[in-house]
Amino acid sequence: MNDIAHRNIAASEEQQVFVDAVESWAEKELRPVARKFDQADEYPHEIVEQMKELGLFGATIGEEYGGLGLSAWTYAQIVVKVASVWMAPSGIFNSHLIMASAIERAGTEEQKRSYLPRMATGEYRGSVGLTEPNAGSDLQAIHTVATRDGDDYLVNGNKTWITNSLHGHGTLLLVKTDPAAEPRHTGMSLLIADKGPGFHVVGKLKKMGYRSIDTCELNFQDFRVPRSQLLGGVEGKGFYQTAGGLELGRINVAARGAGIAEGSLKHALRYAQERSAFGKPIWQHQAVQLKLADMATQVEGAKRLIEQAARKFDAGERCDLEAAMAKLAGSEAGAFCSQEAMRIFGGYSYSVEYEIERYYRDAMLMCIGEGTNEILRTVIAKQLVERYRI
Ligand SMILES: Cc1cc2nc3c(=O)[nH]c(=O)nc-3n(C[C@H](O)[C@H](O)[C@H](O)COP(=O)(O)OP(=O)(O)OC[C@H]3O[C@@H](n4cnc5c(N)ncnc54)[C@H](O)[C@@H]3O)c2cc1C
Repeated sequence: MNDIAHRNIAASEEQQVFVDAVESWAEKELRPVARKFDQADEYPHEIVEQMKELGLFGATIGEEYGGLGLSAWTYAQIVVKVASVWMAPSGIFNSHLIMASAIERAGTEEQKRSYLPRMATGEYRGSVGLTEPNAGSDLQAIHTVATRDGDDYLVNGNKTWITNSLHGHGTLLLVKTDPAAEPRHTGMSLLIADKGPGFHVVGKLKKMGYRSIDTCELNFQDFRVPRSQLLGGVEGKGFYQTAGGLELGRINVAARGAGIAEGSLKHALRYAQERSAFGKPIWQHQAVQLKLADMATQVEGAKRLIEQAARKFDAGERCDLEAAMAKLAGSEAGAFCSQEAMRIFGGYSYSVEYEIERYYRDAMLMCIGEGTNEILRTVIAKQLVERYRI
């Protein structure tokens, strides 16, 4: 075996040790507190501190910037483990790492040196500020404008549904630097926007699920951002810089969905053996067996698609089709399995004494975020025709 092969095995063994450590941490520290924080809709500061110690905020940031430099596949496995216990905390480091990965991919060397080491430790935690009240799927319709003013931009506009924006330190902000540009995307830019005067966090939104994490509306009024904070230093690249992160973002959301699915299956498997009806454990009724079998098949199918997409991403290949399929399968597995688990739990599914209702409330978000599943199906179909054009 050659040196490189030895190094790869050592690296993958190290990464597996990390996945196992995160799994033990999630069981020991997350599981006991998940219900408390979710019910109170309270931000889990102590969990954030533990995640800093684990290195999760630097999981995918390169080692040269102080991160762990994990592969997308290792990272996806970590996300599955966390989300199988409690999905919400995975959003705290996920959104942050989407910002970090955009800076690492498209930022200037100065931006990388200034932000990535602080982001890797979690000292600086970021968010992704794309969505506006009237523009979600259609991001080219945003209205937030950055106008040049000497060496600064003056930003005015509104964002909504921005996760991590209350307790985080800044956001990767999608703006129009040329609102009149045609095609529209050529007038869009990303700013690395630290909080400051004119950056208003309007309020934490009350959510059905994904509670305890801060998802907020933002308002910008003559918010001053130095021009040196323009991602990559060139205007008009924001739309493609955003799209460039979609493959990894979709693999991450897929992993969150698969985690919810796996967690739901585990809860249902236990309950189906504990609960009896008509003189036998309910798992012995064929109708319950059919559910368990379908759930397990969806979990495994989603995980294989995630692995396929992540490995392709790690090999440096384009994986739009694979990442879209993984996201569709992972998120739908989460929605399906949490709903089937609710049925298996019967009336007790509605009790907050059991945790399954939280999985059910958290699951749908994965079908909506990082490209709705309707949009993703259109992406998959277009990619198929592209690859198999007659
Ligand atoms: C809890 C939560 C957290 C979030 N966190 C963030 C965050 O941190 N940062 C951020 O920027 N955003 C965030 N979002 C926003 C999220 O990304 C958007 O909600 C999502 O992109 C969908 O946009 P929309 O809500 O405007 O729906 P719309 O775009 O209005 O879509 C409504 C419906 O129309 C369908 N539709 C629209 N266009 C098409 C089309 N071309 N073809 C087929 N169907 C179509 C959609 O699939 C959907 O079913 C978050 C949302 C939630 C709920």
